[in-house]
Amino acid sequence: MTDPSSEPALLATRREDLLARLAEPVHYDLAILGGGATGLGVALDAVARGLRVVLVESHDYAKGTSSRATKLVHGGVRYLAQGNVALVREALHERTHLLHNAPHIAQRLPFVMPSYKFWETPFYGMGLKMYDALAGKAGLGATEFLGRAETLALLPEALPEGLKGGVKYWDGQFDDARLALALARTAAARGALLVNYCPATGLVHDAGRVVGLDCQDGETGRAFRVQARCVVNATGVWVDAFRQQDAQALSRASSPMVAPSQGVHVVVDREFLSGNHALMVPKTADGRVLFGVPWLGKVILGTTDTPRQDLAREPAPFREEIEFILGESARYLVRAPSRSDVRSVWVGLRPLVKPPEDDGGNTKALSREHTVLVSSSGLVTVTGGKWTTYRAMAEDVLDHCFEHGLLPRSRGGVTTDLTLVGAGPEQADRPGLNAPQGLHSYGSEAAVVASLPGADHHLGGGLTEAMVRFAARHEYARTVEDVLARRVRLLFLDARLVGSMANRVGAILRDETRQDPQIAAFGRLASQYQTLPE
Ligand SMILES: Cc1cc2nc3c(=O)[nH]c(=O)nc-3n(C[C@H](O)[C@H](O)[C@H](O)COP(=O)(O)OP(=O)(O)OC[C@H]3O[C@@H](n4cnc5c(N)ncnc54)[C@H](O)[C@@H]3O)c2cc1C
Repeated sequence: MTDPSSEPALLATRREDLLARLAEPVHYDLAILGGGATGLGVALDAVARGLRVVLVESHDYAKGTSSRATKLVHGGVRYLAQGNVALVREALHERTHLLHNAPHIAQRLPFVMPSYKFWETPFYGMGLKMYDALAGKAGLGATEFLGRAETLALLPEALPEGLKGGVKYWDGQFDDARLALALARTAAARGALLVNYCPATGLVHDAGRVVGLDCQDGETGRAFRVQARCVVNATGVWVDAFRQQDAQALSRASSPMVAPSQGVHVVVDREFLSGNHALMVPKTADGRVLFGVPWLGKVILGTTDTPRQDLAREPAPFREEIEFILGESARYLVRAPSRSDVRSVWVGLRPLVKPPEDDGGNTKALSREHTVLVSSSGLVTVTGGKWTTYRAMAEDVLDHCFEHGLLPRSRGGVTTDLTLVGAGPEQADRPGLNAPQGLHSYGSEAAVVASLPGADHHLGGGLTEAMVRFAARHEYARTVEDVLARRVRLLFLDARLVGSMANRVGAILRDETRQDPQIAAFGRLASQYQTLPE
């Protein structure tokens, strides 16, 4: 048996090899649709149990919701306020596993909640003490009640007028797209086959059972048929398309289970929140939580929760959402960021799960927990939940597979202490996730990256030619967007800067992959990320 703490081998991700494997007549145990947090988590758990696993992703890993999170590894203070103790407890324990298994891309982070009313410090402070108690041994640090001066010392940009004090507590933060990639690469190193830019085009049924999927290489159009004992639909907000197709094959009706809700973040420079503490506002004007999180050299402000009907791949923000984030930030920060201070704006769709009777568009009342459904054909659909709990969700999916006789039962817990690629040994002096990205972001693989051609050729924003080559050779990158949005996070941090880097990154990628790196398409995307609605 493999030692869960040992570092997996460095694999090449040559597309020709991946497609050649996909064409082999293998009968897989598990075929997964969707390479976001959920699908990748299932792939890793399954392969770690010795199952034969294939996963296809229509775009790039984490291109969907999984690269657009607030980047918090958290129990969810908000869910505690809603009384959802079980969800919070589970997430607090998963938080510990994640921080331990991927210390280069997931770390603890102190938060300060400033109080402008006398009752807020004791009220929220007691709630956060409960948060600590629920975490138990999984706690990251004790909640502290702060006076006015202490609050300002930790959060120097907090608005001093009317400030009474505050509460400091601990949670975690992470790099969502790089975590997705680490899950994909760790699963691949253990034998799973994962192919991005390979959309599933349909499910394959035989005698009323789902027995595989059809998929297509997004670059050449070549079609593949994959056979599997069990098929998992982990396509996030897009799950209903496959549920519907499954129902049609069985001549049954299916009603949508997902109610998408859009969340917007804006990114501003560190001068708006220069310390090492995140800002947490427990109750905004619309009753939501607002975060100001230092991340990779910038500050993320958000988020919103707006129902929407369509399932756009690159949803645009609404004007009211931008006004809301900037307006709420102005209530708590000395220097209020204005529209011209926004470096990048991005939008993610939450796959909230509808109750059986839809309540008419109130997305805050929809379930934030994940849901697993097994159809009569055996199609397993999983959606909802959060990044923090991807590992527990994966175990739950496999439990459902066992309960429905789709897979032979095996013991859970195999990923609890399974370290991900790049984790390496603990490094006390590693720059935190609030520092700009650089070689340190690669954890134990930094030396390999530094050994590639172009390690001293800087392209801007901490990116080197060697990092682009590493992305193409070992991290499945095919396009300029893959590199600038998800291998490094520059599109999310500064959309104007990346526009000027696209040509140089494209030339290196073309040299590696001999493919069109889609520079023009990236230019259009970068301009969307720097445009605020009028
Ligand atoms: C604004 C916002 C902030 C959030 N913040 C946090 C946070 O701070 N912490 C936290 O823990 N959670 C957070 N979440 C929740 C978390 O991001 C999601 O729960 C998680 O990313 C969902 O992952 P997923 O894999 O289910 O969906 P996705 O990431 O969307 O993955 C689904 C994948 O399926 C692929 N796909 C679609 N169709 C096909 C097809 N035909 N063939 C193959 N593949 C296909 C898509 O391309 C996509 O990559 C946040 C969510 C939002 C929206």
